[in-house]
Amino acid sequence: MFWNRVMETIRPEELADLQLKRLKWTLRQAQEVGLYQRKFREAGVSPDDIRTLDDVEKLPFTYKSELRAGYPFGLFAVPLREIVRIHTTSGTTGKPTVVGYTCNDLENWSELIARNMTMIGLGEDDIFQNAVNYGLFTGGLGFHYGAEKIGMTVIPSATGNTRRQIEMIEDFGVTAIHCTPSYALHLAEVAESMGKTLDTLQTGIFGAEAWSENMRVELERRLDLKAYDSYGLSEMYGPGVAFECLERSGLHLWHDFYLAEIIDSETGERLAPGERGELVITPLTKEALPLIRYRTGDVTRLIDNECACGRGQKIEKITGRCDDMLVIRGINVFPSQIEHVLRSLPEVGEQFMVYVDRVKHLDEMAIEVEMTRAGFSGELKDLARIQKMIAGELQSALGIRTSVKLVEPGSLPRFEGKAKRVVDRRGVL
Ligand SMILES: [Zn+2]
Repeated sequence: MFWNRVMETIRPEELADLQLKRLKWTLRQAQEVGLYQRKFREAGVSPDDIRTLDDVEKLPFTYKSELRAGYPFGLFAVPLREIVRIHTTSGTTGKPTVVGYTCNDLENWSELIARNMTMIGLGEDDIFQNAVNYGLFTGGLGFHYGAEKIGMTVIPSATGNTRRQIEMIEDFGVTAIHCTPSYALHLAEVAESMGKTLDTLQTGIFGAEAWSENMRVELERRLDLKAYDSYGLSEMYGPGVAFECLERSGLHLWHDFYLAEIIDSETGERLAPGERGELVITPLTKEALPLIRYRTGDVTRLIDNECACGRGQKIEKITGRCDDMLVIRGINVFPSQIEHVLRSLPEVGEQFMVYVDRVKHLDEMAIEVEMTRAGFSGELKDLARIQKMIAGELQSALGIRTSVKLVEPGSLPRFEGKAKRVVDRRGVL
């Protein structure tokens, strides 16, 4: 099923022409912004130097810190009267990042979400519960308008009041849900405690945090649905940058809207096709907030084999963010790797937390792991065995020693939005 068959299956040569045309337009748009006038001057490039798509490598990167420095409206390329909506990113450190949208930006964003939903077989007959934050977070309104565009029946349930969410799924016969994967697990847990099986649910769309294949297995088993990965970031409208099709082996990136590159995040060099590195995106249609070579901080690779669905090049499921990446005694560790190991172990329950400390100049990683109810009723010597087994599994997957503490089911924090499972206490007094 296609929402926009012509664009979704565009031939590579035609796509390249379109991308180049749109890239040139985007550069003209960027020249309206003081930051880019200065960056182009400093890099000694002018938009006229860009004659082929490969010339994009001559252009400077854009960093999240520069968006923050432009707070609030410094990076807008259009006057404020043309901006019809504002979103901001969470801003856990310092000022948030402000994203503005023109009417055309909102239209384009809905188009992308409509493609995503249609691609996995959703449409007018579906009842869709959008269980994410409806405020400044882009996941709420982004999915809302895309779902309405294709005629789904949308329930803007937002987050919170989990028991009520479960009643709505049951009473309204909800067929598709969108939330974070960690909230989905919480939903499953509460539904089980209420004795609800949520039989109508068929499709789960999970995004806003990186999640593993083992998490998929668990979500599908607990909620009895098919789980799809959604990728996006507020700086690029929001969700809708890439999405899994029915094949669920990588996410289709919408190349008519986004020019993607994979670079070495240390050197900034572009990597060879198929290599894993940091995803850099130049959005090609953004009016209000054009961005050139935006450093997403997300780690993935481009997948070149043809997909059975007939759409274009995919990216691999995001395995982590460069800035989520922990460096423990010189070894790179992504929280999603830890999750992947833990979800494969039947003794391990819903949640975990990771604590990193520096003890006598050495990094120490400690993980608190909830057990399953069955696991926790075991004897003390059994607990010691399980603890040792988990530590062993983590050591062989991560290459570092961790201390593991088993805790009671339900004792660790639950997250309605993005999960914050890592507490890095190094450098904090
Ligand atoms: Zn596909």
